[in-house]
Amino acid sequence: MTELTELSAVEIAERVASRDVSAVEVAHAHLDRIAELNPALNAFLHVDTDGALAQARRVDAGEVEGALAGVPLALKDVIVTKGVPTTAGSKILEGWVPPYDATIVERMRDAGIVVLGKTNMDEFAMGSSTEHSAFGPSHNPWDLDRTPGGSGGGSSAAVAGNLAPLGIGTDTGGSIRQPGAVTGTVGVKPTYGGVSRYGLIAFSSSLDQAGPCARTVLDAALLHEVIGGHDARDSTSIDQPVPPVVAAARSGDVSGLRVGVVREFGGEGYQPGVTARFTEAVELLTSLGADVVEVSCPHFDYALPAYYLIAPSEASSNLARYDAMRYGLRVGDDGEASAEEVMAITRAAGFGPEVKRRIILGTYALSAGYYDAYYGQAQKVRTLITRDFEAAWQSVDVLVSPTTPTTAFKLGERLDDPLAMYLADLCTIPSNLYGGPAASVPCGLSDDGLPVGLQVMAPVMADDRLYSVMAAVERAKPWSQPTTPR
Ligand code: GLN
Repeated sequence: MTELTELSAVEIAERVASRDVSAVEVAHAHLDRIAELNPALNAFLHVDTDGALAQARRVDAGEVEGALAGVPLALKDVIVTKGVPTTAGSKILEGWVPPYDATIVERMRDAGIVVLGKTNMDEFAMGSSTEHSAFGPSHNPWDLDRTPGGSGGGSSAAVAGNLAPLGIGTDTGGSIRQPGAVTGTVGVKPTYGGVSRYGLIAFSSSLDQAGPCARTVLDAALLHEVIGGHDARDSTSIDQPVPPVVAAARSGDVSGLRVGVVREFGGEGYQPGVTARFTEAVELLTSLGADVVEVSCPHFDYALPAYYLIAPSEASSNLARYDAMRYGLRVGDDGEASAEEVMAITRAAGFGPEVKRRIILGTYALSAGYYDAYYGQAQKVRTLITRDFEAAWQSVDVLVSPTTPTTAFKLGERLDDPLAMYLADLCTIPSNLYGGPAASVPCGLSDDGLPVGLQVMAPVMADDRLYSVMAAVERAKPWSQPTTPR
């Protein structure tokens, strides 16, 4: 018999609905697997056993229902949860227990999803490997010496390692898609404004977007539908229905779809095995009736530098709230120190090196004398990138590229070289700057035996197109995870 932890979300929900298995049994199976494997993976920072079992009992009692009722989920620790510790991977929030739930948490609870706990991440979602977490890195189930990607590597490691069939990540520059690619899982960044940011701890507010992680395309679509849609508590939320993502995931029809291959994302610097799998995926789409052409997006080459001005600038402002007066950590308050001294001592002790680097960079880029030269220029580049996308949509329906230039790198390999770390997000950042949806779907293994992701990008609010392409690829390239981490 297949282990409960190997089932997809859809299969679990069906078995729970037909009372073949109880939601409590499903939760226990996953909690046991977490107990067994989390010491090696460090995917979860906090396991909410009581909360998960209480929710599972509600499902079994028929108090909540829905297409994903009884399905366990791993929640990135940047999403606030009432009564459950939330750290954003930082010492500065250690011990903080939020007094409210994020909108997406409320929606998942009302849909009967069982949140197992909070997953590891780079501090304040700044990173591409989880090595900037204050609580140690997560490990990739495909190879424990390698990163599961970042910043949302904890959720992706949990999903890839069968600790949970579903996860939530957040994507500011690639943090759902890049971990998805390097762990062989599906990761979707919905349209900016398509999923509420209320209760998402802010890194870069004009870029941050929460979205689904899963082992199958249909599972991701079902979760997308639960968390998506308008929220009056988020001023940037789009007041339109969720695009028909579930129907697209079920159909997987790409005949007649116009697919653009981004010319700028390939060639030198891309691992040969990544390029080979990407090329095969494109050939596959052609064989399924898609109309494939090459498209040039000349400003995509400037996305990375523009992002590393805009994101740190917004972060320097957003992170000003960690002042030792309102949240979490407070050190140096000996009764003699001034408020400013306590703030400085607390921030020095509570933030890690990458967060400090970004605050310094952002503060500099926003300072009076340099604003026009750095932040202002970066915003202009952002406009040019948006225009590249809009020009592309004149001739194609979706754009595709490799999700990442390489497969999962070794832990430690890029830690002392921030620029090498930043390169992991080369291909994912343009969609964040533009605001359109983008996703990563597994498209095979590289020569090193590690997973490769195909990235799909679509126009604003055309999220369903991502799912059509991903479902087509998934169907043609049946996929399975190693059941035991190695
Ligand atoms: N790796 C990128 C960064 O370090 C993106 C992070 C993210 O998407 N949260 O900023």
